[in-house]
This record gives sequence, C-alpha cells and structure tokens, in this order.
Amino acid sequence: MNFRNFKMIGYVVYGRGAFNQLDEILQPQRKGTSPMVFLVDHFFEGKELAKRVPARGRDQIIYVDVTYEPKTSYVDSIAKQLKDQFGTVSGIVGIGGGSALDLAKAVSLMMNNPGSSADYQGWDLVKNPGVYKVGIPTLSGTGAEVSRTTVLTGPTKKLGMNSDFTPFDQIVLDPQLTTNAPANQRFYTGMDCYIHCIESLAGTYLNEFSKSYGEKALELCREVYVDKNSWDDESDDKLMMASYAGGMSIAYSQVGVAHAVSYGLSYLLGTKHGIGNCIVFDHLEEFYPSGVKEFKKMVEIHQIDIPKNICANLTEDQFNKMIDVSLGMKPLWENALGKDWEKQMNRERLRKLYERF
Ligand code: NAD
Ligand code: ZN
Repeated sequence: MNFRNFKMIGYVVYGRGAFNQLDEILQPQRKGTSPMVFLVDHFFEGKELAKRVPARGRDQIIYVDVTYEPKTSYVDSIAKQLKDQFGTVSGIVGIGGGSALDLAKAVSLMMNNPGSSADYQGWDLVKNPGVYKVGIPTLSGTGAEVSRTTVLTGPTKKLGMNSDFTPFDQIVLDPQLTTNAPANQRFYTGMDCYIHCIESLAGTYLNEFSKSYGEKALELCREVYVDKNSWDDESDDKLMMASYAGGMSIAYSQVGVAHAVSYGLSYLLGTKHGIGNCIVFDHLEEFYPSGVKEFKKMVEIHQIDIPKNICANLTEDQFNKMIDVSLGMKPLWENALGKDWEKQMNRERLRKLYERF
C-alpha cells in the first residue's frame, strides 16, 4: 500500500473582513519593484470590492473573463502578457469564484514553466514551482481554494494541472465576499460541495481522513440548505467552511459518478461545473438514492431552477464524444463503483443516462 503524501496550502486566514489584511499579508512577499498581479473576477469590475484591492506601485489588476471555464489559451495569454511586460512578478492573487482561482493557480505556474499550460494537463507534469500565489474565494463550494489542481479546457482535453506546485501559498477566507451572490449561482456552486461529500463518502476510496472532513462538510451543507429556507450571514460563514472541508475530503479520496458524467457535458456543451453537476445529480437515484432525494428537497426549499432538456437535440457523434470523455475519468468510476466498474458502467448505460438530461 502506498499512501498519498499530499501537499497542502501554506497559510489560511478566515473571518469576516479578513480581506482587509491582504495588504499586510502581501507586504513581505513583495520582491523589489516586481508587481503583485490581481486576477479579479470580471463580476467585480466597478464594484466596491475592486476599490478595496490593495494595489501599490506597479501592481496590476486584471479583470478576468469567466464567462467560460478557463482555457489553456487564456492562461497562456495572461502569463505571456505579464512576462513581456514585467519579466517576473512578485505574486498572483486570484479573487473570485472557482474559475478565477484556477486561473490564478495556472498563471502562477506558467510564470516559471516553459511552453503552454496544455503541456501540463495531467498528473505531476509541472516542472518548476510557480510564483507566490494567493486565492480569495467569492463563491463557496468548489474547494478550488484547497485543491492541488486547476481545471483547464485545452485543445484536446479538459483536465487539471495536477501537481504539488499547484496549491496556493495563502488563502484568504472572508465569507463577507460571498454575500449577495445570486441565489441560483450560490446554490450551483454550493451543491458542488454537497456532491463532493456524497461522492466521497459513498466511494470505495474512503478512509477516516476524508470521512472526517466529508461528514463535517455535509453537516454544514445541511444546516444551510436543509434546515433553513432563507439565507443569512451565518449561511455564508458555514458554506465557506463546508467548501474548505469538502475540498480536504476529496484530497484524500475522489469524486464519483456526477463529476464523471458532468465532465462530458462541460466538454461538449460548455456547461459550467456547478450547474452541470446539479443537472446530472438530479438523475442519479440509482447511484446515490438518499443524496438525490435530499438534493431534490433542497432544490424545492430554495426554489432553484435546474435546466432541463439540454441533451434533447444532440447527434450520435455528440453523445459518443460525451461518453468518451466521461469513461476516460477512470479513477472517478473506480471510486464510485469499485475496481470492476467496467462491468457495471458501459456505453449503453451511460447513453441512457445522458438522454435523460
Ligand atoms: P465561477 O467561478 O465559474 O463563477 C460563476 C459566476 O459567478 C461568474 O459569472 C462569476 O463572475 C460570478 N461570481 C463570482 N463571485 C460572485 C459573487 N460574489 N457575486 C456574484 N457573482 C459572482 O463559479 P464556481 O462555481 O465558483 O467555479 C466553477 C469553476 O471552478 C469551474 O471552472 C470548475 O472547473 C472549477 N473547479 C475547480 C476545482 C479545483 O479543484 N481546482 C474544483 C471544482 C471546480
Ligand atoms: Zn466539483
């Protein structure tokens, strides 16, 4: 047995208003006149938060377009622009949802690694540590703030730059930053965490480490989404910690069927991660009966819209493409269904599932 020896994030600060400490946190990391670069989710352009970004001297704020999930070409273009302009930078600070956080991790790595980020999509392919990087989530649920990956869509695949160099050096968890996110979006991203927990806890890879975090994260999700039908500050506080713990849970286990299937949707149709997981999970009674029942209850309590009929007009080729992408996620299937998963999950069964969305 070879146990995973995994790299964790460096520093964590948690609390309402913790964002105000950012200037002080960055100070010792500044190298001469090399700038800090803030990659800020474009949602915040012109908003109050943008004015609070502690940019000094040659620092730069780049509003990142997260309309689509991050692409390797986008990562490469930001890294090239920074290298051309500054040579090197003191650090990259990502502020936003999972997409902005993934961009920040990837750009940090590409400041110190040659070629294209597409060359590093996979496991442990990154050669050199990136520049100092900070993650500041403004949505809770993905666990991107703690994970050792950054999910990118490249020319041939959707896969992360999964490496020991990928985790942030610092994260700032300030639940105030998630206040006022639209209810649907907050639900989709929050459900990413709920689904991480269900998949991790029902998986064959489970151990006591991931169970401890998974159970706590699930408990917090339930307090927020099952026990209450409204939203308050406490909900933001709890969901931020749920996201962190959910991310820690899958660090030592793996996700499962919903993720394997929703990857197909996002590759083919560009469906975003959180919403794609919800679309899929809604139909997974045969795999996660009690989780799906509870999920439907949460959708009802919070009056959330889950898109329907997104696969209604797809061609044979398109179905096949999604099935290829999904079946390629071997560790996810193995975690969900066991070592002999291929006996249980085949193209026909998966096709029937996709037809339901
Ligand atoms: P997101 O980052 O894609 O953002 C969704 C939308 O919400 C965007 O329009 C964004 O501008 C907006 N937004 C962000 N913060 C807001 C706020 N406070 N108020 C209002 N709007 C706000 O959404 P997400 O669900 O956080 O992240 C999904 C991404 O995370 C996907 O790209 C997925 O691949 C990635 N992901 C990464 C990991 C990982 O471990 N690296 C894990 C899960 C998901
Ligand atoms: Zn996820």
